[in-house]
Amino acid sequence: MSRPRGSQRVLVAGLALIVVIFFVEAAADAYLTGDAEERAWQLERNSVLSIEYLNRIARDLDEERILVDDHILESDATRMAEIERRRSQLIADLARAEQKYAPFVELPNEAGTWSLTQSLINRFHEGVGATLALSRQNLNVEAQAKLDEVRSQFQELDRHLYELIQINRVGALEAVTKAQALDRSTDRIALFARLAGLVTVGILGFWLMRRVRAYENEIDDYSQTLENRNRDLDAFAGRVAHDVKNALGPLVMAPSRLRRTATDPTKVSEVADRIERSSLRANSIVDALLAFSRAARNGESGEAGALRPALASVVEEVAPLVAQFDAAIELEEVPDLLVRCDPGLLHIVLANLVGNAVKYLEGQDERRVRISAHKEDAACRIEVQDTGPGIPEGVRDKIFEPFYRVDGTQAAGTGIGLATVRRVLDACGGRVAVESVEGRGSRFQVWLPLAE
Ligand code: ADP
Repeated sequence: MSRPRGSQRVLVAGLALIVVIFFVEAAADAYLTGDAEERAWQLERNSVLSIEYLNRIARDLDEERILVDDHILESDATRMAEIERRRSQLIADLARAEQKYAPFVELPNEAGTWSLTQSLINRFHEGVGATLALSRQNLNVEAQAKLDEVRSQFQELDRHLYELIQINRVGALEAVTKAQALDRSTDRIALFARLAGLVTVGILGFWLMRRVRAYENEIDDYSQTLENRNRDLDAFAGRVAHDVKNALGPLVMAPSRLRRTATDPTKVSEVADRIERSSLRANSIVDALLAFSRAARNGESGEAGALRPALASVVEEVAPLVAQFDAAIELEEVPDLLVRCDPGLLHIVLANLVGNAVKYLEGQDERRVRISAHKEDAACRIEVQDTGPGIPEGVRDKIFEPFYRVDGTQAAGTGIGLATVRRVLDACGGRVAVESVEGRGSRFQVWLPLAE
């Protein structure tokens, strides 16, 4: 089962991407708007304060102008002094308003208009001062004439103050518009970042779900395979026990039979033969089991198998049986190839296939075995063909299972040879296949990768 090695990396990368998205959002926000938005709001606040101070100046000037009128109409010196005292208060308040307004003079055209206004205010004060001096002496006609002059100055002054208020009103509006535009672009960036973050989280979630589902399926398959293997193992143990028990059965009976027939040499010899057969059978089962257990351990020796000598030695081994059955064995010219299979295991594979081909010839009319080997791309194909009884179609897969023997098979055997062949080939990266025609023979083919 594959392990979720890549998942952690993808997850970390996904989370890093989300962090990057929000970092980029913050950077873009700072780059595009900076503290411009805050400055715009500050400008708006300054303009509002400026309008307040300018209105205060205009109100003070207006009141001063009214006081002058009262002063001219007044003839009592005490009251006149009172009016002048109130005027002094107004002038002080006006000066304070001017002082507060001055730092906020920052809009285009504002500074020029303000300095002109200031000089007009001074001239107005001077004119008012001169008017009051005449009124104090009760020179009302002259004072009135001076006041008319002052009034025209006042109108100009009023116009300039109005102009300043207008400049600040426009400035405040522009600042608000700018701040709102910046605010909107910040909102758009934040929305985009949130969407990008959401999409990334969505993709990550989807990917994780698929990954988890794939792992679940893998775990299910794996546990199913394990369950099947356990079942096979149980069946395998049962068959081993059964076969070993059958082989040992006659051995268990032998001592008592020997005791009973100790005086009859013919019977003793019979029992001895039985003991020998049982021992050999038990021994062959144990050998086959050992070969089966070693079969999956290919490559421990690190050696490659040489095909030509391996086939030659197997043919030599089966020669007595071939002679016994009066059969013919034909080994075609074998290419000198090295295959990726331990020499001992290669021998097991070939000995089983050739051994079976010869073994099952017994009793057949035609008794021939033909062996050939060819190079096929990066592999070697070995073919063992016989004229034996053939294998029924429905069991052609089963013969590769441990301890399976076709019903009615007479020849001696353990039923573990072909299972061992398949095990060895699985471990070597090779494969085995069988074709057969019942009553006419079988053809086993084996593919083994070539050694480098
Ligand atoms: P064994 O030969 O010891 O019984 P194997 O695992 O080698 O065990 O073979 C399993 C079964 O396949 C045999 O019992 C036999 O029925 C059948 N079989 C194998 N090879 C041949 C063959 N060449 N011809 C006919 N039957 C075969």
